[in-house]
This record gives sequence, C-alpha cells and structure tokens, in this order.
Amino acid sequence: MNWEKILIEIEDLLIPHYQFDIWERGLYGYLLNQTRLRGLEYSTIPLSSISQALNCSDFQSRKTIRQLAEKGCIELEQTRKGQSVKVFLPSELGIQPQKQVEAPLNLEEIDFFKNRDYVAELVAREKEQCFYCLSEISAENCELDHVISQLNGGNNSYKNIVAACHKCNTRKQASTAEDFLRSIYRKGMLSESEFEGRLSAVEALKNGNLKPVL
Ligand SMILES: [Zn+2]
Repeated sequence: MNWEKILIEIEDLLIPHYQFDIWERGLYGYLLNQTRLRGLEYSTIPLSSISQALNCSDFQSRKTIRQLAEKGCIELEQTRKGQSVKVFLPSELGIQPQKQVEAPLNLEEIDFFKNRDYVAELVAREKEQCFYCLSEISAENCELDHVISQLNGGNNSYKNIVAACHKCNTRKQASTAEDFLRSIYRKGMLSESEFEGRLSAVEALKNGNLKPVL
C-alpha cells in the first residue's frame, strides 16, 4: 500500500468528489485509521469511541456513519460483536485522477523555427506565398527565415519567423527585411504595389499583427 499516494487521493479526489462535510471528513479519516491503516479489512468500532474521537454526540456519529454508508465510502455489516465497518479507498471507489487538461498553447512562447513544427501554420499565414517575393511555396519546399537574422539578435517567435522560398532565404542573409525587399523590387521581382504591401507586412509582422492560426 502506497499510503502517501492514497492519502493525497483522499484529499484531492475523494473528499471533493463526495463533497464531504467536516463530520464526514473526520469520520472517514478516523475509520480509515482504525482499519485499513492498521492492515484490517473490517473492524468493529463502538459508537462511543467514534463520538469520542470526533468529539460529538452519538446522534451526530450515527448520522455521519449513515451518510458515509449511503455515499458508498464505507460498508457496514452487522456482526455478533456489533456493527463492523469497512472503509473503501479512492481507487476501490473508481475515483481516478482526472486527466491533466493540456494547457492551451501560448502563441508568445512558441518556437516557430525549431524542427519546422509549425511550418504548415506559417505557410498558411503567408497564403502559400514566399513572405518576400510572393512566389508560390508549400510546407514541403519552403524555408523558414528569420526576418531579423539570428546574428542580429532575431528570435524564433511568430513575429520574426516567416515562410520563404529557397532563393529569398539564401539571398537575404543578414540584411534587413526592408533592404532585401528593396533589392528584389529593384530587380523587378515585385511590382511597386507589391513592394509597398510587403513593407507593410514586415511592419505588421514585427508588431505581432500577423498571428498564425494554430
Ligand atoms: Zn521568395
């Protein structure tokens, strides 16, 4: 018996599950101590001992015993020596720890570069177009680019990682996104309105306004 675990389960699971009042809580603990903790399946415990232990009237003891029996936490059996009691442990009552609810993903803390874990989400945000030159990309063939390069202290947040084509990722290197966009605009790879649009996108990205949908 792992009593440490059982006692935690009683506090954390059984008591809230059955909404024990203070008397039920006291009685359950007392009966557990008198039986299972001492290696006894059953024990006959005089009502007077219970009342004394809980510092209450026999009326209160009887009432609490009945409540615990009705909840199924204890079992009473009439024997020749008196009423014998068995206390059930949380696991025997089928009370299991609730599955941990997964904490919701915190967008601000996600590493969007590592292992390309979120490449699909980034490509979707970029509308299947290279963040810089707007050529068609897919989650399979795109590359993840640091808008502010790692050399310049850029991090891996969604405000700094974009999906780009291989060419742009290779050519941009450590230049700023604005300078790089200007260079491909001059080469005729972007129209003037596309160039303006990309500059606005960089601004929006840095301001956290281009949130990928997870
Ligand atoms: Zn590109």
